[in-house]
Amino acid sequence: GVTVGVLALQGAFREHRRAFERLGAAVREVRLPEHLTGLCGLVIPGGESTTMAKLMRTYGLDEAIVDFHARGGAIWGTCAGAIVVAREIEGRPEQLRLGLLDVKVARNAYGRQVASFEAEVPIAGMARPFPAVFIRAPRITGVGEGVEVLAEYAGDPVMAAQGRVLASVFHPELSGDDRVHARFLELATSP
Ligand code: GLN
Repeated sequence: GVTVGVLALQGAFREHRRAFERLGAAVREVRLPEHLTGLCGLVIPGGESTTMAKLMRTYGLDEAIVDFHARGGAIWGTCAGAIVVAREIEGRPEQLRLGLLDVKVARNAYGRQVASFEAEVPIAGMARPFPAVFIRAPRITGVGEGVEVLAEYAGDPVMAAQGRVLASVFHPELSGDDRVHARFLELATSP
């Protein structure tokens, strides 16, 4: 069967675990580089991107995840995870990131008036809009040539993909709708 990993250093990893289990996938919590062995994909969850990045560095998971991706592993970053996979973080050139997705992000960009909200967001290839939960979400402010925008909210990309890397600035693990998790399983298991 298929085993998908969820980075479990910090943040909303348990909710991702439950969503994949509802879909019948086996899930492994990843805390050390060796936990990546044999996985087809890895989720980098929401949480706090600077804390998560520091812990990744401490355990050598930053290099291990880049290597996992280079060997064909699929990666999905949600919210803070989308910041971690980005190429550029606006105004924070020093913040550790993996640079696996050619996007520029601005942290906490929806957090001024309303820190958290839910919106029905149409996603490419899905018959019905998705109930997207935004929590101090980053804004995707630039996308490179090879990046496919899969969803937009208020004119900004909120879900994007490039090869085997997926990012969503909202939290599909919190909406009780597992369609984005199902999409990631397809990406992770496609030849
Ligand atoms: N604001 C957080 C960050 O910048 C992300 C918030 C989230 O993951 N819900 O790391």
